[in-house]
Amino acid sequence: MFDFAPATFSSTEENGRIFNDITETIGKTPLVRLSKLQKQLDTQADLLAKVEFFNPAGSIKDRPAMAMIKNLMASSYFCDKTEIIEASSGNNGVACAWLCAIYNIPITIVIPEHMSIERQKLIKHFGGNVVTTPKAQGTKGAIDKAKEMVAANPHAVSLDQFGNSTNHQAHSESTAQEIWKDSAGSVDVLVCGVGTGGTLTGVARKLKTYKPSVKIVAVEPASCPILSAGRAGVHNIQGLSSGHVPDILDTTLISQIVTVSDEDAIAAAQKIARLEGLAVGISSGATLHAAAQLIKQTEYATKTIVVILADGAERYFSTPLFRDD
Ligand code: PMP
Repeated sequence: MFDFAPATFSSTEENGRIFNDITETIGKTPLVRLSKLQKQLDTQADLLAKVEFFNPAGSIKDRPAMAMIKNLMASSYFCDKTEIIEASSGNNGVACAWLCAIYNIPITIVIPEHMSIERQKLIKHFGGNVVTTPKAQGTKGAIDKAKEMVAANPHAVSLDQFGNSTNHQAHSESTAQEIWKDSAGSVDVLVCGVGTGGTLTGVARKLKTYKPSVKIVAVEPASCPILSAGRAGVHNIQGLSSGHVPDILDTTLISQIVTVSDEDAIAAAQKIARLEGLAVGISSGATLHAAAQLIKQTEYATKTIVVILADGAERYFSTPLFRDD
């Protein structure tokens, strides 16, 4: 016979508060201890997950998208004819389309065709246009196409997430501060995937001002080891490596690079759903797999390791993350 205790909710200052609009709910995502994983891996390391699917449009990209669009709207060239044309592997596209629905700005997202159909549908759901580019050209193909479209349209602007310093600043001002505060300064290591490099650069820069000894571990796809081997290739860890070193990535912040195969990333994402009840996306599987490798090294064996989980599993129903069995 079960003894049902009443559900308890942590009391926060937000309880009972009405938000003025949905954008006010960006950030303040939970930092969650992966206790069962720690036990299973038999480690002294403290593994803490920064769970970014709690953001209102579903991913870590809500933070920089909001900052970049707010900056654009405050700029002198913004007017009621302005349109946004942006290259994205998807999550930035979803976040931007969501915000453009709220702020009534026309938007076109240029996305490589092999990014999940869920992303493309969400962009359209928020009223955005989608233009796809060939898989073989990777994210670079989408970036080039977006540039071409912007050049041909006098009202169009790009947020240029790969080159816009507002991208990483948004992470310094929100993601990093939250990690520092919620871990009570105990964070020793950050494990972070690299797409635009906005998360890594922004979080790492800020954390290092608080604690210069913090180690920054960059995660990239094994079949597209642009940072570790200078080689680009096709991969299925959506959101990671665009096949070039992004302008805003500050590589001097990186202590170590871990490469993860598509299969290992998917397996880790599947495992954490069943072990800890965290339904996360493929890049989160990659950062989790990387963390599990790191703790085998004595340097990391007893450290407090914050792992970025960038988005949720529901953006990947159509991909090999979901099996039929
Ligand atoms: N994971 C996922 C699922 C993403 O969409 C992104 C953003 N491209 C990242 C990781 C990497 O984030 P960043 O662009 O800040 O490097």
